[in-house]
Amino acid sequence: MIPYSKQYIDQRDIGAVSAVLKSDWITQGPTINKFEENLANYCGAKYAVVVSSGTAALHIAYMAADLKTGDEVITVPNTFVATSNMLLVVGAKPIFCDIKEDTFNIDETKIEKLITKKTKAIVPVHFAGAPCEMGTILKIARKKNLLVIEDACHALGASYGGIKIGNLKSDMTVMSFHPVKSITTGEGGAVLTNNKNYYEKLLSLRSHGIHKDQNGFNVMAEMGYNYRMTDIQAALGISQLKKLDKFIEKRRRVVSWYEEALRNHEEIILPVTNPDSACHVYVIRTKRIMDRLPLYNFLRNAGVGVNFHYPAVYSHPYYQKIGYAGFKLPMEEIYHNSCITLPCFPGLSEALIKRIAKLINLFYEKN
Ligand SMILES: *Cc1c(COP(=O)(O)O)cnc(C)c1O
Repeated sequence: MIPYSKQYIDQRDIGAVSAVLKSDWITQGPTINKFEENLANYCGAKYAVVVSSGTAALHIAYMAADLKTGDEVITVPNTFVATSNMLLVVGAKPIFCDIKEDTFNIDETKIEKLITKKTKAIVPVHFAGAPCEMGTILKIARKKNLLVIEDACHALGASYGGIKIGNLKSDMTVMSFHPVKSITTGEGGAVLTNNKNYYEKLLSLRSHGIHKDQNGFNVMAEMGYNYRMTDIQAALGISQLKKLDKFIEKRRRVVSWYEEALRNHEEIILPVTNPDSACHVYVIRTKRIMDRLPLYNFLRNAGVGVNFHYPAVYSHPYYQKIGYAGFKLPMEEIYHNSCITLPCFPGLSEALIKRIAKLINLFYEKN
């Protein structure tokens, strides 16, 4: 089965990891700082705090932003559940905004209507690695005095208006280094920020709420967690980061092969092209909703590991139970009933993409 995504690990990655394994510091050592420095530099952010996962990064970003019970946060249903799960964990209420027909990102024209006295933040998700309309979103946030925390777990290496994601004027930006993402550390994540107060708070929250006082003694001043990344993982991260631009280039090439092979197809809708996208996933839509599941099964049976990104967060049984039963957004409903994720990762060849396109044609010849 060709997976929908997969890491690329080479001999240099392995060498970097084994060097740390042979060193004195396999966690809480100097490799963490170096990875943070390199990551912040790459994105053009002042500070980076690396943690054990993208989910942990979302959690401490929300905590650093002081999101809590009674607060409302505007986000999207077209995301991995962690984006809104961590809002629930801090007690905030996810307010789901509908998505756009072309990019499947948050529909920025629908944000203002959702703002109430309780709204504290907007969490846009750069779906598939294509940035949201951040100019408009940041303008709304400034006007209404809201925080912006970007879920950029798909978008490391993407840019918006010539600026790398991680260096926009939002409050914090969250990354993930799970194997399907732009680069991997096995599990891992990061929060990027230009704000020193957030930075110090994130460092503390990552490690039990403990900081060092002026005498160098450990002091626990707030509740925190052990969300630390190991130096072993950071070594892999540093090595992977050197290849990031090449990875993105290869992902963009995969997307261009799909476009070439599927451009004139009458039964499917291709996503819009964004030359600044990190091309995290490639999602097509079936024009007829009823074709979607049969096509999905047909491709799976032919060894193509197609996937769904994503079922609407509000449609999951847990969300149905906590008050979202009956809640539906028009574009999201059309989208999540017609989307299919095709394989997209750096190691794919043009021949393979052509084979997948041929299989799609074959399905429609028969159906
Ligand atoms: C992957 C992902 C996360 C969570 O990251 P993990 O590292 O798997 O915890 C959060 N949000 C989005 C949009 C993601 O794709």
